[in-house]
Amino acid sequence: MANYKPKSRALFIVTTETGCMVPISHKVNTTGYITKRWGWGKDCIAEQLHRFIYRAHHGEHSLPKGWEVDHICRNRACCNPRHLRALSKTDHARSSNITRHETMIEQARCYWLAHSKSITGQALADAFDVGKSTASRWLQAWKSEEAEDAKRWGLFAGTLSGDTVTRYDARGDRQ
Ligand SMILES: [Zn+2]
Repeated sequence: MANYKPKSRALFIVTTETGCMVPISHKVNTTGYITKRWGWGKDCIAEQLHRFIYRAHHGEHSLPKGWEVDHICRNRACCNPRHLRALSKTDHARSSNITRHETMIEQARCYWLAHSKSITGQALADAFDVGKSTASRWLQAWKSEEAEDAKRWGLFAGTLSGDTVTRYDARGDRQ
């Protein structure tokens, strides 16, 4: 990367528990990415930092025209080269769509929790503009997941009353 000289201030990076390397010296833009400027004058290049990092690690020609750099970790500010992969535009869009879909399901789940888990499949379907069968499938999955969790922690939800805690072991047997 001989042609690139950092123009602006140094990069300070923190590493999170998940191994994401996030620059704290640079603000993320409205789309969640960090832009960095390299070089001087007419040679100045502004590019997404993670794109630059990818090329710096994999070589100048590692990104064919039209290819994009995807965050495997879904953290757009991350610049850990191990969390980055090159994808064709089409594959990147597909991957982003899956992420968007997962985000929507998470939001729906929060909505369900915020409504004390008493929301109907139809109400959920209306709120998130999906079919009723989809919403019902979500509800079913969340409920069985909660039951699984409760078992795993040796405590069934709903058995907490006052000071009385009924404990169950992992097989669901009362202790
Ligand atoms: Zn990461």
